[in-house]
Amino acid sequence: MQPIGVFGGTFDPIHNGHLRTALEVLENLSLAKVYFIPCGQSPLRSKCIATSATRLRMVQAAIASESRFVLDEREIVRNGPSYTIDTLAELRNQYKDHPICLILGMDAFLDLPKWHRWKELIELVHIVVAHRPGWSAPNEGELGSFVLEYRVQKAQELIQKSRGKVFIMPVTQLELSATQLRSGLQLGLDPTYLMPESVAAIIKETDCYTQKFLSNADE
Ligand code: ATP
Repeated sequence: MQPIGVFGGTFDPIHNGHLRTALEVLENLSLAKVYFIPCGQSPLRSKCIATSATRLRMVQAAIASESRFVLDEREIVRNGPSYTIDTLAELRNQYKDHPICLILGMDAFLDLPKWHRWKELIELVHIVVAHRPGWSAPNEGELGSFVLEYRVQKAQELIQKSRGKVFIMPVTQLELSATQLRSGLQLGLDPTYLMPESVAAIIKETDCYTQKFLSNADE
């Protein structure tokens, strides 16, 4: 049974760091597909800069050429804060005993103890942590114990069970962040080679990261 991947984020905007990570995890773990799930209202972060509609458009455009990447709008459609636990509970219900892998960058993983009902996530899915430049696996505190308890060394073990394992895998290091991209865009810098051209075209068309819009994003 090929596992399903789940990759959430603000995607404000989506960039090549996200796309390359998703592809390498997909190939390395032989995932059937990866769901890209842009969050609606992040409980932990300030409002997104681009509107939900624009972020959906950007993700759709970015993944259009890869048939195994799928846009999932559920967190934007759902009212209230976007809790990952709710999304995963829905997917678990849908996929029964199928392996599901929640894909997180290391920075997102290190923040996991701040997430709503974070310890329950592992009861629903596997967690795959992609190394990001400058981060290392935690070995102390609550998260260190969590890693110690659930970590497996072989990807094969993610297929044998539908949930309950943590797998830490290196991905090609692309030192990119949406924050850094937005700063560059505000200064009028060209984002070519950092994101798909189709995403850059939407940013240009909507002007969503220029100064005049930064104070009145509509979400
Ligand atoms: P921001 O700068 O606004 O925090 P971001 O670039 O980190 O944005 P998010 O949408 O918040 O992007 O991240 C979604 C997921 O992608 C998270 O799990 C994050 O760790 C991961 N991620 C982000 N950038 C990279 C990158 N360059 N390489 C690998 N994973 C990344």
